[in-house]
Amino acid sequence: MKTLRKLTLAMASVLALAAPGWAEGMVGISMPTKSSARWIDDGNNMVKQFEEAGYTTDLQYADDDIPNQLAQVENMITKGVNVLVIAAIDGTTLSNALANAQAAGIKVIAYDRLIRDTPDVDYYATFDNFKVGVEQANTLVAGLKERFPDVKPWNVELFGGSPDDNNAYFFYDGAMSVIQPLIDDGSVVIGSGQMGMDTVGTLRWDGAVAQARMDNLLSANYTDKHVNGVLSPYDGLSIGILSSLKGVGYGSGDMVMPIVTGQDAEVQSVKSMLADEQYSTIFKDTRELARVTVGMVDAMLKGGEPEVNNTETYNNGVKVVPSYLLEPVAVTKANWEEVLIGSGYYTKEQVEN
Ligand code: BGC
Repeated sequence: MKTLRKLTLAMASVLALAAPGWAEGMVGISMPTKSSARWIDDGNNMVKQFEEAGYTTDLQYADDDIPNQLAQVENMITKGVNVLVIAAIDGTTLSNALANAQAAGIKVIAYDRLIRDTPDVDYYATFDNFKVGVEQANTLVAGLKERFPDVKPWNVELFGGSPDDNNAYFFYDGAMSVIQPLIDDGSVVIGSGQMGMDTVGTLRWDGAVAQARMDNLLSANYTDKHVNGVLSPYDGLSIGILSSLKGVGYGSGDMVMPIVTGQDAEVQSVKSMLADEQYSTIFKDTRELARVTVGMVDAMLKGGEPEVNNTETYNNGVKVVPSYLLEPVAVTKANWEEVLIGSGYYTKEQVEN
């Protein structure tokens, strides 16, 4: 009897040790591509934070290939994950797999990018994507005033993100909420006349595609005038756009480098800002996005309600997906150190070497 009591007490203390903050479950994390540093950071941050919270993870990258991502997600379902966290390549192609997931009791979180046209997505963790666009355009306009105070009107060109990524429309609409009034009052002219996501979108966020389009825009519209600004929604596109601009002589002699925006604060683009090429970027702290996502998973698996701060904006075509939106931060040469180094996101050596 005594032995049994001792044993029960011992077991109780083991359980007590394990209890606080400990969780059980496997999380399938499906990321789009390793070709951009931000998604690598996202994956690493999530694995770290999920493991700290007691979960196991299965992290997969899909090389920006839609069938590949589908196969990876299906494989996670077969493995019996408890939750899927997905940053979709094409937000409309996962419906059947997600129906199977939910039938098997697997929870689904859309990570950064909304998953569209399905009822089978529980929550959405992202940044305020409209505000990303607003901030991109605000830095564009601030840069135009600073670098081209005497030019009227400013010649600007517009680039959009991938048309299969819901975010791309939010970025574009946010930016146009700032730029359209300037077109209307005559202070900005879109030299090529090319506007609207149908025309300016860049499939798969591909920098080479943006570079080729910029080459065409320059040769067709800028032989007798200069372009002053380019709205670019992502650092990887900005790099292509800048190559094209430099290729025809911008940044030397009387060809002043246009104001080029970006997004993600990738190291290469921060370096480009310090070299006075790219003008701005948008910092989205992927550590925070991971924290929000881990919090959502933890709440769901423990039978609670995840914290959300938006239940209106993100209609995926079937339902409004309850969302948590984080704040993006505009970065230029004036504040990069405070924002990116001060927050511990990068070390100074990473950016300066
Ligand atoms: C993300 C951006 C990123 C882009 C290209 C978007 O869905 O929100 O941060 O720049 O994809 O990877």
